[in-house]
Amino acid sequence: MNLAESAALETELAGRGWEKAGPGGTADLVLINSCAVRETAETRVRGRIAHYVALKKKRPFALLLAGCMAGASPDGFPGVDYLMGTRERSLFPAILDALEHGGAAELSPEQEAAFSFAPLYLEPGAFRAFVPVMHGCDNFCSYCIVPYVRGREISRDPASIAAELETLAAHGVREITLLGQNVNSYRFGELDFPGLLGRIADRTSGTSIEWVRFLSANPGDFSPKTIEVMARYRCFCRSLHLPVQHGSDRILQAMNRRCSRAEYLALAAALRAAMPGISLSTDIMVGFPGETEEDMAALLSLMEEAEFSRAYMYHYNVREGTAAARLPGRIPYALKIERLSRVIALQKKLTLRALRSRLGSRERALVEGISRKNADEYSTRTEKDDTAVLTGAAVKPGTFVELTHQSLRGTTFRSVMEEPCPGV
Ligand code: SF4
Repeated sequence: MNLAESAALETELAGRGWEKAGPGGTADLVLINSCAVRETAETRVRGRIAHYVALKKKRPFALLLAGCMAGASPDGFPGVDYLMGTRERSLFPAILDALEHGGAAELSPEQEAAFSFAPLYLEPGAFRAFVPVMHGCDNFCSYCIVPYVRGREISRDPASIAAELETLAAHGVREITLLGQNVNSYRFGELDFPGLLGRIADRTSGTSIEWVRFLSANPGDFSPKTIEVMARYRCFCRSLHLPVQHGSDRILQAMNRRCSRAEYLALAAALRAAMPGISLSTDIMVGFPGETEEDMAALLSLMEEAEFSRAYMYHYNVREGTAAARLPGRIPYALKIERLSRVIALQKKLTLRALRSRLGSRERALVEGISRKNADEYSTRTEKDDTAVLTGAAVKPGTFVELTHQSLRGTTFRSVMEEPCPGV
């Protein structure tokens, strides 16, 4: 999301004639697009702000803090000239006007209240694109800052999504990722998320867009209808990120996840029954307040049962203002790290097992470009979202190929091409 939003800001700057400053430090504007979801991300941004505020004393330039941190700090940041939260995108032209022509970045009350989705960003020759479909989250998982900094859910007008798909197809884009904090709760009038997926599948059918992914899908809001639509249309990649966070019902409840262990496993089974071979990745958090060894055992057993092909694993850290920040039973840092290392070790085993089971099988992949390590090889991304290095063939970036995975180097497949896919 942050990547897509940063790119959209860049597009807007380029559209007004702004250029990227060189490394010599000649910028008139330094823009930091911040993330507040984890403490580490926030600490990094604070470090950057301190660096640029110090630099401003030697040479004047404007400093703009955008993103979640800007929205979360009503007191502001000393030395930062402009703050622009994720719901204040309409401030951007006013800030640029002020920088280009002098004066203050003033907004009318209507502009201040307006929310707009980021404009389309597409680099020349790009074959992948992000398409925001909703913004914000109403779920209030007890550890999460997102509903406070991004606000309540807003779904995008399907007419505007359709217009964007048309532009993307006209540019020959091959793969799109629908974006939102909780895409499953998309609702625009009568249109729900599975309805939107159906429309997108129909609109992209017969165009250059052959792969559709979406992020993030909260399991508590995943409807059986969504599974049906995914299974019906082949444009939906057989790879899904489905954050579970934990395997213990006690912890899931304290996290306010609204999806029990049994419900999650049933959802994973339903997805696999409807789309055999679908690859499931997840998010896992250890060290939530009150977590016991019993909870840890439940988490490790859920990982085994769900057979995640990949996981983003991290330890809990406090986000002030959230419900979990007030919970007793904080886990000492050293114990959180020890628990995290157990989770990482198990996932490593599961990932390798899942990858090895695909050796010798054929899979569709999108060519990304020449491999960074060897100019005779190509880097590709498979439908299941893994990297496969293609050897022994010359192919064009942005084309689909049918690969046979021959071996593994770490978690990267070494593959050969069988034949170009139809339509390439
Ligand atoms: Fe945060 Fe995701 Fe929960 Fe929403 S569903 S509150 S974004 S963790």
